[in-house]
Parts: sequence; structure tokens; C-alpha cells
Amino acid sequence: MAHHGIGPPGPAQHRGYVLGSLTMDWNSPITSKHIEEARARGCVLQGPGRNHAFRQYRLSCGHTQEITLTNMRFGAFRCRRCLADKLEREAQTQGCTLIGPGRSKAYREYRLSCGHVQEVTTQYMRNGTFKCRSCVGIQLAKEAASRGCEIIAPGRTANSRIYRLPCGHEQEISNKAIYRSSLHCHICQLSKLKAEAKVRGSSLLGSGRNAKYRRYRLQCGHELEVLTETMRLRPFRCMTCRAIYPVQAPDTDRSTFGNVLDRS
Ligand SMILES: [Zn+2]
Ligand SMILES: [Zn+2]
Ligand SMILES: [Zn+2]
Ligand SMILES: [Zn+2]
Repeated sequence: MAHHGIGPPGPAQHRGYVLGSLTMDWNSPITSKHIEEARARGCVLQGPGRNHAFRQYRLSCGHTQEITLTNMRFGAFRCRRCLADKLEREAQTQGCTLIGPGRSKAYREYRLSCGHVQEVTTQYMRNGTFKCRSCVGIQLAKEAASRGCEIIAPGRTANSRIYRLPCGHEQEISNKAIYRSSLHCHICQLSKLKAEAKVRGSSLLGSGRNAKYRRYRLQCGHELEVLTETMRLRPFRCMTCRAIYPVQAPDTDRSTFGNVLDRS
């Protein structure tokens, strides 16, 4: 009777199943125990594995795989062929192709629908929650060039890059922000705010409650949060000593006072 890999081999092999230097005695009580442990997992023991720890099994899915006796006992295994098939199907659903293993068990290498090759976690591939980094980079470079900027280094995260702005300064900008209509150079903006404060006899101390405000030291010595626009364009008064700025404004009328503090 031919041995089809299901259960113990025929009578001719009763004295030992030989593969290389490894032998397996199908009649031993220990083998019976291994057969039973495999059966409990819906698998069939087929023969010896690459070393004494491994055996060859036919899994419940029909595929054949080497698994350690311990992993079989505890059910700590999955069919590699079935997993690969599943990952391949999931990649196809996203218009991608599975190419090979990735940097860790969570990753695989894929050819994306755009043609670029990238490692993606199997979960992100399954959910379609990934972007092609090459395509994102190409788009960002185009957008930067159209604004007279240039990408000169990667950012601290994948979501930003370091740019050289038209003024010559270098700045980290998020991928989202580079698409916004206005791009501000923080360094140029800071020197502008400092200069505007100086005109009013004030000095810039730091940030305010939001992007529109800054904290200033006024000429009278008191500190005040003022709208940057007010510091630049409109008269205002110190909330502590009531001094009016600019000090010698020709017609400082209450109604023209800029909004020093947002009372809304
Ligand atoms: Zn399988
Ligand atoms: Zn791409
Ligand atoms: Zn600048
Ligand atoms: Zn004051």
C-alpha cells in the first residue's frame, strides 16, 4: 500500500522512517502521543522535520508545513502558505502586489499601484491606510518648487520636511502646511515683529494666547499682550498705568484704539 502522507506509513516502513540522519519510530509510544497532539489540532503527523524539534505535518487547510512539536502541542502556529495567500489577496484588493518579506513580521514589501516599491505593515495594507512615500515626496518637491522653495532634508517625522524658503532661511514645514496659500518664514516674521515693536518703544517678550497675539514689554515698563496688528497699525494703552502708545500720537481718540485684549 502506498503511503499518502496520512497517518503512519505501511508495513515496509515499520522499523523506522528515515530521512537523512533523522529517524522516527512510528510504533513508539512517544510518536503515538505526537500523532494524538496533532490530531487535537486538526493536523496529521507526516514524518520527521529538519531536526529533532520539528516534524512535518499536514495542516487542516491541506497544506504541508514543518512545525516544532511544542508549537503543535500548544497550537502556536499558522499555515504560512495560507497566510501568504491571504496577504496576496489583500494586496490585490488595494491594487498592489506582495513582493517579499519586510523588516519585521508586521511588514511586507509591496509593489504599490503607482509602481513604487515600499514596505507596508500587513494591517495598513489590509485597511488601505498607507501612502506611497515616493509619490508624496515627488508631489511635495513639485509644490515646493512652485513656491520658490526647496526641500533640503527630511523632517523629524514622515509628515514634514526641511525647506529652504525664498528668503534663504531654512524651516521645517508640515506636508499639510506646504499646500496652504500663505507660507510664513518664522525667522523673517520674528524680525518683523521685533522691528514693529521697537517703533512703538516696546520689545517683544514671547508668544501670546494665540497666533494673533504676542507679549510685549511696553515703554512704561509694564507687560501686555497685544494683537500684532495693533502693535503695527493702531494706538493702544497700557492696561496697568493707562499710558497711551504711540506716546505722541497726534489725535488719539478712544474710538480708534486697537483691540488690546479680546473681551469676547
Ligand atoms: Zn494552508
Ligand atoms: Zn508611488
Ligand atoms: Zn526668512
Ligand atoms: Zn504701563
